[in-house]
Amino acid sequence: MTFEGQSIQCAMLEGGIAELRFDLQGEPINKFNRATLDELREAVAAIKADPAVRGLLVTSGKDCFIVGADVTEFLTYFRNTEDQLAAWLLEVDALFNTVEDFPFPSVAAINGFALGGGLEFALAATYRVMASGTRIGVPETKLGIFPGWGGTVRLSRLTGADNAIEWIAGGEQHGPEAAFKVGAVDAVVEPARVREAALHLLREAMEGRRDWKARVEEKKAPLQLNPTEAMMAFEGAKAFVAGKAGPNYPSPVAAIEAMQKGATRRRDDALPIEAAAFARMAKTATARNLVSIFLGDAAVNRIAKKLAREGVHVRASAVLGAGIMGGGIAYQSASRGVRIVMKDIAEPALELGLSEAAKLLGKRIERGKLTPADMAATLGRIRPTLGYGDFGEVDLVVEAVVEKEEVKKAVLADVEGRVRPGTVLASNTSTISITRLAEGLQRPGDFCGMHFFNPVHKMPLVEVIRGALTSDAAVATTVGYALALGKTPVVVNDCPGFLVNRILFPYFAAFNLLVGEGVDFLRIDRLLEKFGWPMGPAYLLDVVGIDTARHAAAVMAKGFPDRMDDSGPSALKAMFEAGRFGQKNGKGFYRYVPDRKGTPKKEPDPEVAGLLRPVQAAAPAELSDADIVDRMMLPLIIESARCLEDGIVGTPTELDIALVYGLGFPPFRGGALRHADAVGLKALCERAEAFLSLGRLYEPTARMRELAQAGGTFHQ
Ligand code: NAD
Repeated sequence: MTFEGQSIQCAMLEGGIAELRFDLQGEPINKFNRATLDELREAVAAIKADPAVRGLLVTSGKDCFIVGADVTEFLTYFRNTEDQLAAWLLEVDALFNTVEDFPFPSVAAINGFALGGGLEFALAATYRVMASGTRIGVPETKLGIFPGWGGTVRLSRLTGADNAIEWIAGGEQHGPEAAFKVGAVDAVVEPARVREAALHLLREAMEGRRDWKARVEEKKAPLQLNPTEAMMAFEGAKAFVAGKAGPNYPSPVAAIEAMQKGATRRRDDALPIEAAAFARMAKTATARNLVSIFLGDAAVNRIAKKLAREGVHVRASAVLGAGIMGGGIAYQSASRGVRIVMKDIAEPALELGLSEAAKLLGKRIERGKLTPADMAATLGRIRPTLGYGDFGEVDLVVEAVVEKEEVKKAVLADVEGRVRPGTVLASNTSTISITRLAEGLQRPGDFCGMHFFNPVHKMPLVEVIRGALTSDAAVATTVGYALALGKTPVVVNDCPGFLVNRILFPYFAAFNLLVGEGVDFLRIDRLLEKFGWPMGPAYLLDVVGIDTARHAAAVMAKGFPDRMDDSGPSALKAMFEAGRFGQKNGKGFYRYVPDRKGTPKKEPDPEVAGLLRPVQAAAPAELSDADIVDRMMLPLIIESARCLEDGIVGTPTELDIALVYGLGFPPFRGGALRHADAVGLKALCERAEAFLSLGRLYEPTARMRELAQAGGTFHQ
């Protein structure tokens, strides 16, 4: 028996062993795309038909085993009806069952990543041998679905309900130790020995030295739980997971329910339960949107990687300013292996910058993610200085000094004279025009914006801002540096607020209007958090800093006076004038009290109502919950449309990813434009027009109206 496919090759080894090898031609990884599944069907049929086969070895010809199903095909599958989807899953189940039910044992040699459908297939083998240093897992819940090729059925039977729930609901990857401990794999060996060890195990089983039939039966029998244990495992987990995931992410709970329903049944009766529940999840907007975000992320990274090829590879960088942002940038660069000179004008600032980096590294050591030696090496890559001594050697300088135009201009002009021509200068300014900052420079082509988000080590987005004179090469080098830092860069054109803040401030303007009409800001926060935001607008303003937001609001008002006017009294100004700067000084819209770990915890502050009263209408406006959400979200969506039309950003996908990664826009809604598409542009424009008396903040663009009329969408 031999089989030569594009993704799978089969051959007979000595002693009646068939080797089924995944090796997707022309790709660096193995994945279960439609073609691979078709070939697997043929290969399995060929193995089944050959009476000489007495054992099956499953291997990979790549560094990974199988990274999962092909996500690029998901949205096409999801368009099928629930019944069609369930029927398709049962077909795949039947294929995996054939392997599990072979009258001979099988062993999967997991030499590298086995994720999602890849791990699910490995679970159908009788045994699994895993290479040390690799990871396995079922990340499907992160895409709004759950393991649907028998994963919930087999994992719960192999590892017990508790472990299966943790693996499936958490969606994390697990190392060999954890995998072995829970029983997901049967042996762990060095990478070079995986195939040999798998063969050895297979021969043991074939020779009857292992009771492999009992192993298969264990996977096919109902779960070994009495009713009390089942109740504890499933009911307890459901409540806990539901609380953690929240109502907008239903798939982890649906997975647990499917496991629970299938627990008392044999494999063949449990699989249809899993398939039906999976199909239900695949049809949710959450699944569609999370898959879109996954694909959008890949698309944005592809754009960035392509751009970066035209730039200089940054071997050494520098940052000016060792404050919150400069310190964060130095940490990020050093921990990603890029040396960085950190310059400040004040020795204490340098010390603070370094100690912050050391604190972050210390936390990673505590979590077992870093060794003390790695920490020392990382800190060694940050060179603190008060002088310009090393600047002749760096490829890129990030300017992160105070947000004052004249200071920045002076610093940039100064540093320009200290670096080699071609070294890119990038400003981390949040509010100053990149084109204007370039005015005093000799080589404005080498200058652009590189806008990080706070905290730098956590926030994935970096806006790379092209000023009027910025060269393509400077953009390319900066994009490459952002990628090297593990960030997702989105290139945008210069305008007040760039992309993300330009879209955020109309939302804050809407907040000020609502509070001005007497709406309780606690209610606004509650409703927007229910909508899916990680924090409501008042809380977000506190986190950003009331003073910072106040300054930025003034800049935005100057840039877009027609819709972001800031001249009257407002809730934001009331907080600012009361010296309530938000989390940074422990009081803003809320007050902040450090918990036992020192993390500031917010609580309502009775003083605030009195401070807001002078900027609020005496008789509060009567607005429904839906009105409030629309009043907040419409300006953000309309400004998103404007940014796209004004060419501030290249594509709807880049815009949506920027909002999810830079603002925490609810991922299950897929981004502002995808959300708008889901609501429907016609409905959206009608809703906006109902609020037109409030000003241009609520005025849809002409292009939005055209699209609405034509039944079009932002995303194609
Ligand atoms: P910060 O006040 O914490 O730090 C500024 C640092 O710059 C200080 O350590 C100061 O000593 C130093 N500095 C001042 N003049 C200097 C000079 N001539 N040379 C070298 N160092 C000098 O400020 P920050 O919050 O880190 O902000 C820095 C920049 O990043 C600002 O442009 C800000 O708008 C921008 N930014 C801030 C955030 C944020 O949330 N904090 C987010 C994005 C962008």
